Amino acid sequence: MITLKCPECGEKVLWDDFQPAILQCPICKKQFSVHQGLKDNIRRREEGEQKLSYRCPFCRGFISKRWFTLCPKCGKYVFGKHCIHPRWFWISAFITAYLLFTLYYVVVIK
Ligand SMILES: [Zn+2]
Ligand SMILES: [Zn+2]
Repeated sequence: MITLKCPECGEKVLWDDFQPAILQCPICKKQFSVHQGLKDNIRRREEGEQKLSYRCPFCRGFISKRWFTLCPKCGKYVFGKHCIHPRWFWISAFITAYLLFTLYYVVVIK
């Protein structure tokens, strides 16, 4: 059984092998061929994969960018070949800010 999208209204229509190759949408009554719907399905999938062509270095999930992006699968920040848990990202940012402040205090104020 496969799910096809009605080209007219976008309604999801179920199709299995026992039904004819021409389907009728239950909502808008438009008839469309299963083969056309399948072709659309494949095209949509290919377009989607092209957009998400990078992979998370941690979980191998697809991501849209390689830098400064949040992986939707494992929830980590991805920086090129590395990935950081958001918590560690903020902790390291905080430590860096703290060290810079201390350095500033020691060098400039004292
Ligand atoms: Zn329809
Ligand atoms: Zn991931």
